[in-house]
Amino acid sequence: MNLETPITYLKGVGPQRAQVFEAKGISTIEDLLYYMPFRYEDRSNVKRIADLAPGETATVFGKISAVQTFQPRRSRLRLFEIRVSDGSGRPLVCKWFRGDYLSSILERGLEVSFFGKVEWDAYSQEVSLLHPEYEILRQDDPEAALHLGRIVPVYQAIGKMNTRVLRSLIHRALESFPNEPDPLPETVRARLGLPERGRALRDAHFPPKEGIDLRTLESFRTPAQFRLIIEEFFFLECGLALKRRKARSVEGIAFALNERVREKIKQILPFKPTAAQKRVLKEIAADMAEPTPMNRLLQGDVGSGKTIVAVEAAVIALENDYQVAVMAPTEILATQHFLYFKQLLEKRGGYVVVGLTGSYSAREKTKLKQMIREGIAHVVVGTHALISKDVEFKNLGLIVIDEQHRFGVMQRLELLRKGKHPDVLVMTATPIPRTLSLTLYGELDVSIIDQLPPGRSPIKTRHVPDEQAEKVYSFVRREAEAGRQTYVVYPVIDESETKTVKAAQKMYEHLSKVVFPDLSVGLLHGRLPTAEKEGVMERFVRGEIAILVSTTVVEVGVDVPNATVMVVEHAENFGLSQLHQLRGRVGRGREQSYCVLLTGDLNPTAKERIDTMVRTQDGFEIAETDLRLRGPGEFFGTKQSGLPAFRVANLIRDREALEIARSEATAYIDHPPSDAELKTLIDYIRQKWQRRYGLVQVG
Ligand code: ADP
Ligand code: MG
Repeated sequence: MNLETPITYLKGVGPQRAQVFEAKGISTIEDLLYYMPFRYEDRSNVKRIADLAPGETATVFGKISAVQTFQPRRSRLRLFEIRVSDGSGRPLVCKWFRGDYLSSILERGLEVSFFGKVEWDAYSQEVSLLHPEYEILRQDDPEAALHLGRIVPVYQAIGKMNTRVLRSLIHRALESFPNEPDPLPETVRARLGLPERGRALRDAHFPPKEGIDLRTLESFRTPAQFRLIIEEFFFLECGLALKRRKARSVEGIAFALNERVREKIKQILPFKPTAAQKRVLKEIAADMAEPTPMNRLLQGDVGSGKTIVAVEAAVIALENDYQVAVMAPTEILATQHFLYFKQLLEKRGGYVVVGLTGSYSAREKTKLKQMIREGIAHVVVGTHALISKDVEFKNLGLIVIDEQHRFGVMQRLELLRKGKHPDVLVMTATPIPRTLSLTLYGELDVSIIDQLPPGRSPIKTRHVPDEQAEKVYSFVRREAEAGRQTYVVYPVIDESETKTVKAAQKMYEHLSKVVFPDLSVGLLHGRLPTAEKEGVMERFVRGEIAILVSTTVVEVGVDVPNATVMVVEHAENFGLSQLHQLRGRVGRGREQSYCVLLTGDLNPTAKERIDTMVRTQDGFEIAETDLRLRGPGEFFGTKQSGLPAFRVANLIRDREALEIARSEATAYIDHPPSDAELKTLIDYIRQKWQRRYGLVQVG
């Protein structure tokens, strides 16, 4: 048996169970061994019944002396109750509501062990356990000791296989653990003092009886667990390091950075850049001047001014006679960028800027594509329509992807194929810790804008219960009378866009006819025809619409500095990052801005989200809270981001381990103990990790 052996070779796993495992991604012995407990239970506190104290959690061994099922008074549920005695002089009562099914399992005379929290049963004046864990003890069961009298692992059930079944199967797999060499390099293990793999797996599932406490186990800090976490991060980081090395070895474009380029940038700039913007542009420019392709992430909170940096980078490419592609996730944002780039680069800079979003006829589109192919169009702005096959560039030199977290890795790669090793700048407002972003965006270098443009005052954020919506509306009216504009945003209701659109529509009618009949109210949602969307947005930008009722299509990127109020309806239905993005639509000019979160009743997590929004505007803090509330999978959108689903490690909990693994991996790749060992490692990653974690494509 080796780690690659199909799980069906394990005693107790037939075709049916194998199928259930398969659905969970477990098909080999190795997969099973890396299926970790999600918690542990300390069953080492074995007590005699006579010594039990109410409130403690204990394990008891005894014989079932009486069994009954009955309907207690004042309860609608039937109760299954047994008495257990262990000869210590007092019986123990165990009870299960709806426990009828147990009557054929827990029969009189059986030797059983029970585990649970001890309560005092005032009625019978006896100690009792409600819904305890139980194990029927069989004299001949060699595995009985697995489940009792120790700290036991608890697994998430897989199909009908409960934790007890899984515990036995995993134990069986560990018993026959193949004697394969440890893939984690000896040097790394020695330096970090990590146990060898077999030992680590055994101890992580079945913690040694001495010296390990529940708390350490549950926070995944035992040496065994730490070793498995490091292992997972180490191979991932090695893969990324190899990938980075490869990316740097191809030949890209070395853009010339001369006085003419600098002059041109100055000429198109509409305002004085902040120190942070200057710094990141310098990093980007230096990177573009290198002969290897740029792969850079520009990170900056909402409203920090990323767009203008992208425009400046575009000028560098354009002055070197290369084309620039700008991709944005929504049509509205793409249109806005198109107008902005056109304003600066065409009107002031003399380049030809085309948009590939708009409401063009088929003929116009063909014409635009021809312009792009022939190099007549210098800058192309659009949605993911840019990656469609019939869009071909003459000499694409720079790709800018805005709100990159909305795109998948594949989309980025596809756009990349439109050029010959073009430079890439991706932008995002998701403020994630540096190590995480380095892992998430693998081979990217990172530039950070950590400063807002001058003259911004904090946005005042209020939580208002639905009943007081009228007050909010009078406030919106006052702002409108002072010449400023408001967004009223609707969440996705019941996952259904149709219902959301309807709700927004209804709100629009109510606001335009009843509440603000004298003001101009607009409606924007994804179902509108493109031309209409653009029309509404343009009128809002020009200030002709005072109040814009919208679905979340305005969530990212939209920039209308005169809008000062963001009203979010049913704010309890939004995630934190989403609320932060929405709030980022206001506070973009010099006027005081406001964000009003209207909600109904709040459950605890919704309340925490709203409270966080009211308390802080720090995108970093908000992201951390969001990450904690939702977990990394949902936060990053694992599938989208190309981030692997880890088996043992957890990106948030194990951040420190990630840091350690990263520096170990980089050091190892740069200075391997020997070429032979490096080759072994690369082969291992190729064989195991490339398949599982598609992002690690090694040479
Ligand atoms: P984001 O980083 O969210 O994409 P934008 O690029 O949309 O931010 O910029 C937000 C707003 O701030 C825009 O209206 C932009 O014109 C303005 N802005 C950006 N940089 C500066 C600056 N240095 N001085 C003044 N206004 C700026
Ligand atoms: Mg933006």
